[in-house]
Amino acid sequence: MEVALKIDVDTHQGLEQGVPRLASMLEREGVAASFYITMGPDNSGRAILRVFRNRGFLSKMFRTKAVSMYGTRTILSGTLLPSRPIALSFPEVIRDLRARGFELGVHGYDHVRWQDHLDDIGDDGVRKELGDAFEVYRAILDEASRSFAAPGWRTNNAALVALDAMGLDYRSDTRGVAPYRCVVEGRVLATPEIPTTLPTLDEVMGRADLLDDGAVRQFYLGLCKPDALNVHTIHAETEGMGQLDSFTALVRALKERGAKFVQLREVAARLNRAELPVCEVVRTTLPGRAGWISAQGPVRIAFE
Ligand SMILES: [Zn+2]
Repeated sequence: MEVALKIDVDTHQGLEQGVPRLASMLEREGVAASFYITMGPDNSGRAILRVFRNRGFLSKMFRTKAVSMYGTRTILSGTLLPSRPIALSFPEVIRDLRARGFELGVHGYDHVRWQDHLDDIGDDGVRKELGDAFEVYRAILDEASRSFAAPGWRTNNAALVALDAMGLDYRSDTRGVAPYRCVVEGRVLATPEIPTTLPTLDEVMGRADLLDDGAVRQFYLGLCKPDALNVHTIHAETEGMGQLDSFTALVRALKERGAKFVQLREVAARLNRAELPVCEVVRTTLPGRAGWISAQGPVRIAFE
């Protein structure tokens, strides 16, 4: 069983507090992981309020303890209080991750703008978001990012084509079952897409059958495929903070079952691009998540 932990860092607080805690735990457990960091401003207050409003604001706030999870400052970021830079506030935290052997990649520039307005900002807007994000990454790490993970698992043709032109090693923008190459308007893109295969914790939290940590852990253990690559996206703001103990228990349970933890760059390095299935990227919805996400569509051409 292979497990790739894809750690999305969406907020200032997540990078400041969640990331160092996660990195220490993963190091202690001897577990490899890949961090995808939002490079621009933290406007997450808008997104958090939107998500919780969409899903029954009050009951969700109580059930998931959103305030303790995100903190008041984050919830107000970009709403009542000014947004704070994410990556540029903690360049030393990011460089420290690299020094400790973790993989790093770009998780967009303005996470909220991308997630809420991807289709409104036009091709130039998409390219500007990407350009700004990769520039900040380079400024902090003095090298180019080799990968991209779309905020909110949302992408469109402009983003797919622009990212493909960058010649990245891979992208991880969608939800799906196994690595593939995307077809956009009849053209097969070169860059492999390595989709997230498991539901995220915030999608399953609050389910009536998963009310305690043990049940959630068993749920994930049951979903992990023994003879496949399992890509699990976690969040610095969730598994790195309020859910750290529960997530640590899951990591240990996976280790006990013989899981091998891999970084997505290792997965990308061994992929034979010519042999990957070619799939359309489709839009769909997921239980427990507001709005649409991009997903691996039906196989268009299977290369032999
Ligand atoms: Zn994110």
